[in-house]
Amino acid sequence: MKEIYADNAATTKMREEVIIEMKKFYSVEYGNPSSFHYRGLEAKRAVENARKKVAEILNCKEDEIVFTGGGTESINFALKGIAFANREKGMHIITSKIEHPAVLNSCKWLEKQGFEVSYIDVDENGIVKLDELKNNIREDTILISMMSANNEIGVIQPIGEIGKIARDKEIYFHTDACQIAGALDIDVSKLRVDLLTLNGSKIYGPKGIGILYIKQGTNIEPLIHGGGQERGLRGGTENVPAIVGFAKALELAQDERLKGNERLIKLRDKLIDSLLKIKDTKLNGHRTNRLPNNVNISFFDIEGESILLHLNEKEIYASTGSACSSHNLEPSHVLLAIGLSHDIAHGSIRFSLGRDIKEEDIEYIIEIMHKIVENLRKISPVKIKGGLK
Ligand SMILES: *Cc1c(COP(=O)(O)O)cnc(C)c1O
Repeated sequence: MKEIYADNAATTKMREEVIIEMKKFYSVEYGNPSSFHYRGLEAKRAVENARKKVAEILNCKEDEIVFTGGGTESINFALKGIAFANREKGMHIITSKIEHPAVLNSCKWLEKQGFEVSYIDVDENGIVKLDELKNNIREDTILISMMSANNEIGVIQPIGEIGKIARDKEIYFHTDACQIAGALDIDVSKLRVDLLTLNGSKIYGPKGIGILYIKQGTNIEPLIHGGGQERGLRGGTENVPAIVGFAKALELAQDERLKGNERLIKLRDKLIDSLLKIKDTKLNGHRTNRLPNNVNISFFDIEGESILLHLNEKEIYASTGSACSSHNLEPSHVLLAIGLSHDIAHGSIRFSLGRDIKEEDIEYIIEIMHKIVENLRKISPVKIKGGLK
């Protein structure tokens, strides 16, 4: 049996088309975009073409796009850059309880610097409570940061509505859109965002590359000081191959988005429905308002890690919670935020499907999962009384 990769929310395999585009910028057109000779000019042209492509997809101006070293960097840039540039106006920031650690840990660091952060609750489906958001807005609120879709439970947030709330109050609005570029429209005027983060590694592009969209007129401090690249907002020699690869990957992701969604939603729903036939299970995240590739299910009375080990033996690669939190034994902050008990959160598995996965792979996962859960429950010492908290 061939291996089945169902961990695309952690990262994706680079597409052949992307690798081909990138290759010559390592070996032939290797110039520094800042150099005044043909090698440099070619590299500069490649970067500017990539920027143009990205701007067209986001429906924004070219000089509103800054290339960065990935999603985490873009998020740090957005949060710290807005916080420090606008602290005369206020020192209050609003975000949600289910953000990626890049947002939550940037906020924690900002709290140490004297900023105040409100963490908004989500409902049991994982959707941000808009009333609570509105109630937390203050005179000194300078920034709202809310993810477009969650990397663990796939829930899609009402970004356009949040954008309207922020705009009415003249508060900057950033969205971490790392999970949506292959699935949803990323037109920044429809999303009503001032800042938007994307990365390459989630869209079948290179790792270690991302963008921050910054709406014209936004007051922001640079995060990385250097030689004036990216209009002085992000110093350092541009990662030309990765920039070219990112633009290509984004273009392909957006071109194929609708067809891909239709296929993935069918497979996702088949996997969800079949896994929920196993007794004592629960789907995490909204049933329909979720990313086309996300399946996150809790299996009561067993450890997610044990399931993963058995899946791994069958060369099926999935995840518990998110890859970023799999280093520690604390249950996922996202699963706790939607109201799961620690025990149930620990028994959760995420399958994030990708463009290579086939219907027969889904059938194989279903067959194996039924066996694994049955076997583990036979030997399981834990019994959770009363099910959900
Ligand atoms: C992957 C991811 C990030 C981090 O991006 P990197 O490129 O790995 O730094 C941030 N937010 C979300 C929602 C992600 O899925």
